[in-house]
Amino acid sequence: MNNEEFRKYGHELVDWMADYFRDVESYPVLPDVTPGDIIKQIPPKAPAQAESFETIFSDFKEKILPGMTHWESPNFMAYFPANKSKASVLAEMLMSTMGAQCMMWLTSPAAAELEEQMMNWLRDMLGLPSHFTGSIQDTASTSTLCAILTARERATTYDINQRGFSGDEKFTIYCSEQIHSSIDKGAKIAGLGLEQVRKIPTDALYALKADMLRKQIEEDIANAFRPLCVVSAIGTTGTTAVDPIAAISDICEEFRIWHHVDAAYAGTVLVLPEMRWMSEGVERADSFVFNPHKWMFTNFDCTAYFVKDPAALVNTFAISLDILKTDVDNEVKNYRDWGIPLGRRFRALKLWFVIREMGVSGIQEKIRSHIAYGQWLKAEIEAHPDFELLAPVVLNTLNFRFKVDEPDGTLNSLNKQIMDNVNKSGKLFFVQNVLEGRFALRLAFGGTELEKRHVENAWKLIQEEAESVYGRFKKQT
Ligand SMILES: *Cc1c(COP(=O)(O)O)cnc(C)c1O
Repeated sequence: MNNEEFRKYGHELVDWMADYFRDVESYPVLPDVTPGDIIKQIPPKAPAQAESFETIFSDFKEKILPGMTHWESPNFMAYFPANKSKASVLAEMLMSTMGAQCMMWLTSPAAAELEEQMMNWLRDMLGLPSHFTGSIQDTASTSTLCAILTARERATTYDINQRGFSGDEKFTIYCSEQIHSSIDKGAKIAGLGLEQVRKIPTDALYALKADMLRKQIEEDIANAFRPLCVVSAIGTTGTTAVDPIAAISDICEEFRIWHHVDAAYAGTVLVLPEMRWMSEGVERADSFVFNPHKWMFTNFDCTAYFVKDPAALVNTFAISLDILKTDVDNEVKNYRDWGIPLGRRFRALKLWFVIREMGVSGIQEKIRSHIAYGQWLKAEIEAHPDFELLAPVVLNTLNFRFKVDEPDGTLNSLNKQIMDNVNKSGKLFFVQNVLEGRFALRLAFGGTELEKRHVENAWKLIQEEAESVYGRFKKQT
């Protein structure tokens, strides 16, 4: 492709992208495909001869687009949003155009320094303590793994990195039963073993019970285990429950345990001063992670990982290779030493574009509106005789079910049918949760273009489907 062709196709693609943003709401959120439908349209062998860009792009529209799940649709209410904004997409285009590989300061000084300043911006926007510093990572999972590895190394004065496990270590790690699966994964990769992950029971709000945490730690110490790390959550994945961060910080300080806070989704909400009750005690945590790529309008991937003691992080990950040495190594941050990969994308550029284009107040306004829609739907469900909430609604994630006078087993299958039918319609996409054996319809919404009417419509679709599913069920029995 020559430069003039690039210019031409680039313009065409941007036009297509603008149309996509305009029209995505009318696309079926979930594609109507079955496994194997797409791969059979893709030739099994790579083409020997060059193909025209027109052919490639038209295949994209014909073969790929119909098989996409539209995360950008405001009717996407599954998992958590991976929202984006137009400014972040444009920044992504510049990033890939320059293709900078930001492993260290010298390989793109502007990238390193912008990253440092964006982390400062984010820290202050979220009201995190001024002694936090950090770097941008690919995912929360990687950041949590970094936290566990750093905790392990600090506790052993960096000995396992050097010599490997002796076989006598009996490290334990703590989190609530509601914590994200990335903690289990981190414990596996860090060599601690799943059996050493202690899942602490939760209270009626699905938040970790601090007294049970203390009890488990004391019991483990009595049995010659070595408590290494507690991972608490500000916003669990199932119900956005908030663990008691201050009480956990107390315990971690007392027993000298690393305290890592996983705020992957809900961290963004701390841009609202009125929501900072959630993070009380965070100033005493050792590390904190949140994903601007979930709810802060910055397209995937972009994770902010903050630490109290960057020296511990760098001591865990630093490498020293002749080819990477530069004259300024003592004056700059070489972010390759702040995490796992050597190669790094210029993610700070996206944040810089997004935060400036929306302004902190623009971000706050959107987050506030998403929470307000969540609270509106909560009230609707509470007022409905045939629906019930299955978990507190802290923000904009709702767990509820259609509830008529039938046994739990029947309710579970009725609710699954409601979900499946709504999802099949293409008008909405959400997923289930299971809470104490009860099948919950779980709606989480925070898309960039989300308006109240989308939430109203989702609620209407679910009520209508519930009526029709239950009507058919009644006729059969
Ligand atoms: C989404 C999520 C994660 C994982 O995030 P990735 O960036 O995809 O690794 C971890 N913890 C919580 C609470 C989450 O909601």
